[in-house]
Formats: sequence, C-alpha cells, structure tokens
Amino acid sequence: MPPLKILFVSPEVDPFVKVGGLADMVGSLPKDLAAMGHDVRVVCPAYGSIKIDDSWRARDEPLGVDVGVGAHWGRTWETVLPGSNVPFYCIEHGQFFDRPEVYAGPWGDHPDNDLRFSFFCRGSLTLCQQLGWIPDVVHCHDWTTGFIPLMLNTVLRDTPIGQAATVFTIHNLEHQGYCDQRALDFAHIPVAEFRDDSTESHGKVNMMKAGLYHSTKITTVSPTYAEEIKTESGGFGLDHVLRFRAADLLGIVNGIDADGWNPAIDQTIPATYTAEDLSGKAVCKAELQKQLGLEINPDIPLFGVISRFATQKGLDLLAECLPKVLEGMKVQFAVLGSGDGELETLFRQAAARFPGKLGLHVGFNAKLAKLIQAGSDFFVMPSRAEPCGLTQLYAMRYGTPPIVRATGGLIDTVEQYIESTSEGTGFKFEDATALALANTIGWACATYYDHPQAYRQLQLHGMARDFSWGASAKSYIDAYQWAIATRRGEVSTAPAPSSSTAE
Ligand code: ADP
Repeated sequence: MPPLKILFVSPEVDPFVKVGGLADMVGSLPKDLAAMGHDVRVVCPAYGSIKIDDSWRARDEPLGVDVGVGAHWGRTWETVLPGSNVPFYCIEHGQFFDRPEVYAGPWGDHPDNDLRFSFFCRGSLTLCQQLGWIPDVVHCHDWTTGFIPLMLNTVLRDTPIGQAATVFTIHNLEHQGYCDQRALDFAHIPVAEFRDDSTESHGKVNMMKAGLYHSTKITTVSPTYAEEIKTESGGFGLDHVLRFRAADLLGIVNGIDADGWNPAIDQTIPATYTAEDLSGKAVCKAELQKQLGLEINPDIPLFGVISRFATQKGLDLLAECLPKVLEGMKVQFAVLGSGDGELETLFRQAAARFPGKLGLHVGFNAKLAKLIQAGSDFFVMPSRAEPCGLTQLYAMRYGTPPIVRATGGLIDTVEQYIESTSEGTGFKFEDATALALANTIGWACATYYDHPQAYRQLQLHGMARDFSWGASAKSYIDAYQWAIATRRGEVSTAPAPSSSTAE
C-alpha cells in the first residue's frame, strides 16, 4: 500500500492548545500514522496562548486566504509534534486568533467564531496549495472544520485540492457552530448551499451539518456513540442527517498516547510505578492528599474526578449525591475541573462543608490531572453522554478503576466488575440519577474495604489492557482508503467498525 498524504485540520492539538479530548486525539494519532509510514501533517490556528519560541520557523510567504472582501492575510508558523517528525503548522491572524481562548471568552462564545473558523478552513487548504502538497485525504474534526468538505465540494471542487477526500470526525455532536448566513458570504460559498440538505438548520447556518452532509466519510469516536447519534435522543437535532448518511458512518474507538500516559515512565508524578510494583502509587496518593488538603491516610479510598463542569458530564449528579456520600461513607474526593458557574459554586460549597474529605481545584491543570489519575483509588465519570471519553482510559492505565455511567464510549471501553469472578476493569451503572451513582460509589467503596484482593485484580486488569492507538490507527487508514476510493468514484466497501479496546 503506498503511503497516504493525510492533513489533520483541528481547532485543538495537545500539547499546544487543549480544551478537551479532541486535542489528545489530534496530538497523538498523527504520530502513530506517521510511524506506519504515512505523510501526515497537522494544522491549527495560532491562538495567543500558544507559545511560539525559537524552535519554530515562520514561513517566508504570507498566506493570502480568499475569504471576505479582498482576501485576508495570515502568516504560517511551523514546528513538529513533540517526539515526532510530524509537521505542525499554526496559522496566525491577529484579529481572529490573537486571544487566549479557543471557542469562548469570559462572556460566552466568541461572536466572530463563524468568520474565525471559515478563515481557518480556507486557510488550511490554501496552505496546502502554497506548500505544493496536496493531501489524499483531509481529516476534519468537529464543527469548526465543517466548511472544509463544503469548500472542497463547491468553490474548490475544480482545483487540484478539490480531488482530496474528506473524513469528518464527530468528537462531540452537542456543539454544532450555529451562525448567521454571513458566514457563507464570507467563505464565498454559493448561496444555493443554504438549504436543509447542506448547511441550513432552523433558519441558521450549522457548520457541523455542513461537514456531515459534505464529507466523503464520517467517523465518530466509539462504535456505541455511532449508534446513539442516529437516534432522536442522542442526535442533538442532527439524527436524521446521520441516519441519511449511516452507510458512510463508522465508529472507531479512540486510542491514547501510550508513552505520554504511562505510570512507569511518567516524570510529572512524584513516583513512577508498574502493575508488578504499585508502591509508587501510594506515594502519589499521599502527595495528592497533601496538595488538596485531604487527610493524609493511605487506607481511605480516594475518588478522583477530572472533568469539564457540565451536565453532559453528569457532574450535577455528583454534586447532588456528594453530601450524602461524604456524610455516610469513609471516603475522600479529589475534584479538578471548571466550566458551568452553578456547578462550580456547588462544588465550592461542598468543599467548604467537608474540609479534609473533599479537595477541589477549579481550573485547568495538566500536572494535577496526572497526579489525580495516579494518586486516586477510583475515577468517577458519571456522564449523561460520552462520545468516547479518555479520562477513563488514562485512569485504567494508572491502576485507578473507573466508575462510569453506561453510555457511549464508556460502554465500549470499561468492562463491568463481576463480583463472583473478580473479572472486569471498573463499575458501570445505567440510570443517570444521583442515587444510582451513590449506590455505585458505595459498591466500589465496599469492594475496596472488604475485598482488597478483588480490588487489586480490578486495578491489574485495567493496567493490562492495551489502549494504545494500534488497532484504531489501522481502522483510520482503512477509513481514509474507503474515502479516497469513494471520492475517485471507485466501488468500495465499508471497513468494519473498530472493535472496543475492552475486548
Ligand atoms: P471531553 O473531551 O468531553 O472534555 P475527554 O475525557 O474525552 O472529555 O477528554 C478530556 C481531556 O481533558 C483529558 O485529557 C483530561 O485529562 C483533560 N481535562 C479535562 N479537564 C481538565 C482540567 N480541569 N485540567 C486538566 N486537564 C483536564
């Protein structure tokens, strides 16, 4: 098989800029694909928060992007993804990107997101033309890149890059990029595309919908989520589009950066450890208890949480049951996150009420996230909806059995603990209620205190699972080839959905 030319276009790329799991995926999968021999490149906006130092190079030629009236001019910065030779390009445009946040500032979504990301979509394609590097496939990620398949099918269709296939990955269907029709004018998209089976939703332009209708193939980040989004309850108003495109939709479970998330070599945690010798994990627990002002005691089960504060993540369920749990059980909680103001307040109130039992850090802190993964005894993830979820994968790798609600990728990646045989990698519950969550925390707590051997087995099972990109990277290559063949008008059959890493 000849190597493929693959362009990743993404609004987030770890470790340069990260809001959620999308960044983790785009920061790691390209490295695995490159290691398989493919020519992979990644492009992202140059937000003000990205630190450009001497290791970067500015391209001499300015980037003239054909949007708006008389084009917009940008500049391209170039480096590589850390630990690889994968070229990483950042597109600079002061007016659009010289601000720290990706999607939203303190007062909500940036009102010019439609223009910012239209520029970014067209700029990414212009960059390829400037480089004289025409990708076989453009891999787009979520609503901010939804105009790429649309541009390739319309204004750029008869150019060399118009031959490129597109794969559009849904990381989270909830955010769709609704905007005014001015976005189409700005991007020079023909007005005829403002219709229900292209870009129009409820009288507005929907950038996600544009991507879903116009991409050659669609993937999402777990097989179960691929099914859920075709239903009314999981489709966020786009389920009919996904049913229409069902034959082109594939679920591929996310992998993780197995070197970046490895407790045996992780230099950011106070002590490394392995499945054979977990003594370093106890050191991490003591340090976590110290840092979050918890009672330093190795025997109390410590439950970790790292999450956006959002009802999608079920953190309202956790906030609701925490007082009862902390009153009734001898447990501790370490909570890291930020987001919804009301939820923040609830967690702050609970932390004030239960000093020494509930440690809270509001904010985004990558180092503390690793310490929580390493130092906790359980990881809590009560999501209402979860496309894939990465934190439960990191938790299992760090010997921290997850407690998850059975939804989306959590179904695919966590195996239920079976008391009679001590099989499984974590605890799953069905109902999105505070009671079901509290009961499951109680079950985990009882297992920890009363069945230490079974608890140890749970830890070891999770640590033994292979969550690296391996099989899923191959599935993406199959998906790219499927898309390329379709774009060329060749007959091609759909690859099988990527089976769960839990198998
Ligand atoms: P989502 O993308 O829905 O937020 P995922 O589980 O797929 O959820 O990915 C979340 C990623 O963001 C993980 O890498 C997690 O460690 C990280 N993360 C989430 N909140 C924080 C935070 N407050 N501080 C540091 N990292 C965080």
